[in-house]
Amino acid sequence: MTGRDVTIISDFDGTIAERDVGHHFFEAFIPRRSEHEALLEKWKLGLISSRECLEREIAMLEADRSDLDRFIEGERFDPFFRDFVDFCERRRFDLLIVSDGLDYYIDAMLMKFGAGFLEYRANRLILDGDRIAGVEFPWHDPESCALCGNCKKRHVLELREAGRLTVFIGNGLSDRCASGHADLVFAKGELLDHCRKERIDCLPWRNFRDIERDLTARLLLRD
Ligand SMILES: [Zn+2]
Repeated sequence: MTGRDVTIISDFDGTIAERDVGHHFFEAFIPRRSEHEALLEKWKLGLISSRECLEREIAMLEADRSDLDRFIEGERFDPFFRDFVDFCERRRFDLLIVSDGLDYYIDAMLMKFGAGFLEYRANRLILDGDRIAGVEFPWHDPESCALCGNCKKRHVLELREAGRLTVFIGNGLSDRCASGHADLVFAKGELLDHCRKERIDCLPWRNFRDIERDLTARLLLRD
């Protein structure tokens, strides 16, 4: 699999960040719990898009920017992600973060982590001073995918068309669209279940050290 320039495309929530930051934030600050659970169930069943789900979650939210800032403070990264960023730099692999979550906490967490230089593509949280005012979808493309706010498949396909060897890393339902299109897929959690069910070739992983080791073997890299 060597010979082509490599781009690693990684999900954020539950993949780079240990937990699904967006989901847990909404769970903590949406007071109408049963209504929220019913909404998530509809999304899981594919009855509503993640765009619609996210718009309604923001509307149901009773929190402001300072609540979000405090919440982010407690969130952690995969313990081996920092080493993985260095590994990518050493190997001259591009690393792109794609997320159907929100730019605000991705940006804040990357900055805090000293990785603010990493490129990410996500939905955009709209703030009006301290007030969380809404969400915008700069990457939304209903013609290519009706399910996602920011469909990860699009980013994978664009990179493949540009001749890159694409490695996709994910863990959740919002990673399903991309999983059938990357050259190499690392999956855990619900994404692993999905890949097994759909017979999509993938490598299971627990943390970024597993990925570094498997990539080294698969791409026949030498130290
Ligand atoms: Zn999609």
